[in-house]
Amino acid sequence: MLVVQKYGGSSLSDGQRIRNAAQKVAQQVQWGNQVVVVVSAQGDTTDELLQRLITPRPDPRELDAYLASGEQQSAALMTMALQELGIPAVSLTGWQAGLLTDSHHTDARVRSLTGDRISKELQQGKTVVVTGFQGVDIHGDLTTLGRGGSDTTAVALAAFLKADRCMIYTDVDGVYDRDPRKYPDAVRYPVIGYDAMLKLAREGAQVLHDRCVELAKQHKVPIQVLSSFRSGAGTMVKDQ
Ligand code: ADP
Ligand code: ASP
Ligand code: MG
Repeated sequence: MLVVQKYGGSSLSDGQRIRNAAQKVAQQVQWGNQVVVVVSAQGDTTDELLQRLITPRPDPRELDAYLASGEQQSAALMTMALQELGIPAVSLTGWQAGLLTDSHHTDARVRSLTGDRISKELQQGKTVVVTGFQGVDIHGDLTTLGRGGSDTTAVALAAFLKADRCMIYTDVDGVYDRDPRKYPDAVRYPVIGYDAMLKLAREGAQVLHDRCVELAKQHKVPIQVLSSFRSGAGTMVKDQ
């Protein structure tokens, strides 16, 4: 079975959390699965990078090159954590993985997966860790997918690689009818359809990037949203 797992920033905010996430990946490998891991930048790294900009209106191409660095760090750290657990692993940036996007810097849309680098690494028995949130355009320039875009990377890879499962690990144990951090009485959906999820995402529910839900609907990729910190089945987002 081929499994795509995505870990968000809060699931990777320090070394211990990266090691915890690596343990979950290792478990999949021990069960005999091939795993593609998609990582976000650690914690609030992307916000911190934005705060450290030195010009008010940066060139969007350069802004993408700058912001993409956060995910590159966490991909390498996650890969090191996996290797330490004895799991053969390799990190790839969006461009190394061949994730082609349009040229709309800072808000690019995924077009296709070119080349077969990920499949080759998987065939060689490696777990592949891919930077979320970024790709490459036809000019060979780095692009980013918009804030929250690592979810979209995960679904795009699951669709193009025809993965059996796409698991999105985050800091809440599923999708709720309202933000469970703001509303303690919010109710979790065990299952939610693509259209209802798209509505929530477009209304600002951060838990899934709206483009990721669009892509999942288009390619019929079921998404499981789970907590990195608590056990439980979370929420399945799928055709209903
Ligand atoms: P990650 O770093 O894992 O990508 P995000 O911060 O992007 O995580 O998304 C998870 C957050 O989304 C939760 O901490 C929660 O506060 C927020 N959220 C907003 N609306 C919802 C909702 N309807 N269901 C679940 N979480 C929601
Ligand atoms: N690191 C990016 C962001 O903070 C992408 C992501 O986390 O999904 O928006
Ligand atoms: Mg997110």
